[in-house]
Amino acid sequence: MSLEKATLGAKRLADSPDGYKASNQTVVEKMLILSSLAAQLQDARTHQLQLLKQLTELEEAAIRDQEFERKRALYRRHTLANGFTVLRLAKPQENPELFLSVCPHCAESRHEFHPLHPFGSGLACSACDATFVTA
Ligand SMILES: [Zn+2]
Repeated sequence: MSLEKATLGAKRLADSPDGYKASNQTVVEKMLILSSLAAQLQDARTHQLQLLKQLTELEEAAIRDQEFERKRALYRRHTLANGFTVLRLAKPQENPELFLSVCPHCAESRHEFHPLHPFGSGLACSACDATFVTA
């Protein structure tokens, strides 16, 4: 029974003529209890839906973390001539779909892989504006 039906039933019984009052008293009490239980059930369902949503979000985050770790394992720290460090694919021939050099800041802080592009006398990340001087 829905909360609305239980509440409506309890209200009708409570508003009934005096002749029914005594015999209906226990029915009214039961309907009020039923109404309360329906409300508690509704709260429990709402809470369950919130928990399911949290669970789904955690599962999605775990999948993203696994995917990041899998891809991150393909990169090695590579020190450029001027001492700057970038992430470079360990075996580019085996992973032609991935960027050769990526920004270490974006990888470590945001778990994102952004390619480095030539910039002046070095490389730069277009996502976080970090620059890596090569000479
Ligand atoms: Zn970056």
